Amino acid sequence: MSAIKLENVSKYYKSAETVSVGMQKVNLDFKMGEFVAVTGESGSGKSTLLNVISGLDSYEEGELYLFGEETSHYIISDWEKYRSTYVGFVFQNYNIIDSYSVLQNVLLALEIQGYDPKKKHERAMELIDKVGLKSHAHHKASKLSGGQKQRAVIARALAKDCPIIVADEPTGNLDSKSAVQVMKLLHDISKEKLVVVVTHDFDVVEPYATRKIRMHDGEVVEDKVLRSFDEPQKSEAPVLKKMNFLTVLRFAVRNLFSTPRRTFFLMLMQIIVMLAFTLLFATIQTELVDAYSYNSSSANINVPETRMLVEKRDGSNMTQADYDYLVDIREVDKVVEKGINFYNDVNMYVFNLDHPNSDAIYYGYEYDYPGNYTELRYNFIISGTDAASTLSDRAFEGAMPTAANQVIIDDPYDNFSVGDRIVLGKTGYYSNEAELLEEGINQFVVSGITNSVHGRDASRGFIYFSDEFLASEAVPDTYEDDDVKRNLENYVYESSFEIDNMYHGMYDINGYIDDGSTELKMSLYGIEDGIDYFSETSTFTIVDIEFTGFYYDWQRDTTEDIRTFTVENVKIYDDYTGYYDVIVLNEALNEAITDAYLKAYEDYYIIKSRDSYSISVASLSAGNRVIDRIDSDTYRVFYPASVPVTQTIDVMILSIVYNVILVVFTIFLYSIVHAVSRNTMRSRSKDFAIYRSIGAQQSVVARLVVIEQVMIAFASIVLMFVILNVIAIFNITISNYLTSLTPRNYIYLFVLFLLFGAWLGLRFNKRVFKQSVIQNINISKEDN
Ligand code: ADP
Ligand code: MG
Repeated sequence: MSAIKLENVSKYYKSAETVSVGMQKVNLDFKMGEFVAVTGESGSGKSTLLNVISGLDSYEEGELYLFGEETSHYIISDWEKYRSTYVGFVFQNYNIIDSYSVLQNVLLALEIQGYDPKKKHERAMELIDKVGLKSHAHHKASKLSGGQKQRAVIARALAKDCPIIVADEPTGNLDSKSAVQVMKLLHDISKEKLVVVVTHDFDVVEPYATRKIRMHDGEVVEDKVLRSFDEPQKSEAPVLKKMNFLTVLRFAVRNLFSTPRRTFFLMLMQIIVMLAFTLLFATIQTELVDAYSYNSSSANINVPETRMLVEKRDGSNMTQADYDYLVDIREVDKVVEKGINFYNDVNMYVFNLDHPNSDAIYYGYEYDYPGNYTELRYNFIISGTDAASTLSDRAFEGAMPTAANQVIIDDPYDNFSVGDRIVLGKTGYYSNEAELLEEGINQFVVSGITNSVHGRDASRGFIYFSDEFLASEAVPDTYEDDDVKRNLENYVYESSFEIDNMYHGMYDINGYIDDGSTELKMSLYGIEDGIDYFSETSTFTIVDIEFTGFYYDWQRDTTEDIRTFTVENVKIYDDYTGYYDVIVLNEALNEAITDAYLKAYEDYYIIKSRDSYSISVASLSAGNRVIDRIDSDTYRVFYPASVPVTQTIDVMILSIVYNVILVVFTIFLYSIVHAVSRNTMRSRSKDFAIYRSIGAQQSVVARLVVIEQVMIAFASIVLMFVILNVIAIFNITISNYLTSLTPRNYIYLFVLFLLFGAWLGLRFNKRVFKQSVIQNINISKEDN
């Protein structure tokens, strides 16, 4: 039976205008065991004939029989199956994969046909030995001479174990010595196969060929048997096994590693694109979170974005577990256990605004609104005033008053820093507001805080008003607090006095004036019911002074801390005429009390702080995300810098705009990647042609390309995230954006990039397979 039979087969090459004849009405019959030499001058149709019988190219007329089967009805996949099962190819330009070693080239053919993995090495070496390249098995193909390459190709063709071998000018580029070797080799293998060799140089093949076919103008003009040959026993058609996924995977890995420069280039490009994309995505993500959930512009003025407070909703104390949980949140930079409770209002008691020695006190207390929440109010008494404009720029935190009702307050004890400057932006109310009410002003907004002018030791509290306010009639002259006076009266006894009110305790301590005396002095001022209580200075000796409940918590009715101090003399005098009341302590006593009570005062906050933690975040959006994450049934978050908003239509529009930007940008970026990688892929046309010519089915090559791209994408993603995180160490902006990415975002990006890798692969495939194998080969010929 004939292996290949042509009946009046014609092949025309049609282009837009012309039709040229490739071959015309060819009638031939090839049998197994033949070694056919096809000769003829250039353009006579030799290659056309070869391409048609090997299924690389189609034909237009006549009928081609392959092992007795008609082929005029063949579709692409039939041809592919035929090619991959029956035909081994050897071409003039040594179709070898340059980036592979000889062994890998041969192994490839074995792998593609699903050769037993355990035996493939042995088999490959056997074949390499057969073509005399044993010593070059591990050499890179690109390093071989032409003759060696061609022999390697023959070894690979043999590896395929196919009944037909076609060779188009296999010795065309070889010196005569190599040419003879190659022809001999082809002849050797032709014993069980059908070998068809095209050559314009008949002399080289003459000693081996069993048959000579000469072509001219597309027609067979001579067909002569030169020698007899043995037709081998009819053998079974080889079974085609599909490459399994794992082999394709390994194949892809090998390809990536065998062309490191190309792989690196593709990865670099993708990394750049992924970086750009991830940063844009993170930016948009950040903006959207802010826009969706919070309205920063309507939040309190001048409050730091970096600080928030967290407490338990059930009122229980924070535990180590809470600490661990909070500190592990990505956006959380720091958890300060001694957070201060949040408060809404600042009450300002303004006394004797003009008095140079007047003092300021600050204290906090809680309002427990049943069923609502605990709020710590901050009260402070401010007695010194100045114009805010006297403060230098850096002497305060916050902002200069921009309106008459804005003030900068002095914070000598640094109380507010406990909870960071969250008092900023708060509204302050006067307790003695009657007169101010008359003037229409009884509220101030704290625009700034300073403690740098008077400092802690000076124990002074000042309030800095806007010039606008100071120029107004609203400035009160002197305030007298009747309550204070009355209370104090009650505690002054003949030989001792006791202060059991936090208010007074604080007041007194802040009233310390070091006048160098050893006496406890008390200055009282006031006339009540027409009686001048302390019209003259009187001195009396006491044994104990008892301070009680300095930080008395009346809501919980807890800690009564009674401390007793003994001093020798108490002197009451009224030096500070016009100043309503002050206790003047000598230095030693002041220190003792300060130690005991200021410390206790701090303890007060430490006790409080067990109920709330202060959290530092890097930015507003980080803070917003923390709220999103933890403001729940368990925790309540106070974040004065930001207030939640309900989603509005413009936020939705914003979201759409952002997404459109993202999509456009993505398409743009990937068009670039595609355009640039396309040329790289083009340079691989030859490799793809080889894969297919040695039997890899289109589907396998397609899968290979996709897998390669996905792998490149995968490696690029991993590297990109590494690079990004390294950059983030040095760049705070990028770091901020990165923290806005949730694990879900990461997964999203990961999948997205992988899909893009796959998409690129599919695009390349479309390009590669638009061309026939022979076009692929011709392209690579041009490239060479
Ligand atoms: P040979 O291999 O003997 O040199 P070919 O088979 O390549 O000859 O070519 C036979 C004829 O077909 C020539 O006239 C050639 O110009 C034409 N031909 C070959 N390939 C193509 C093609 N792809 N497009 C158009 N014409 C072609
Ligand atoms: Mg040719």
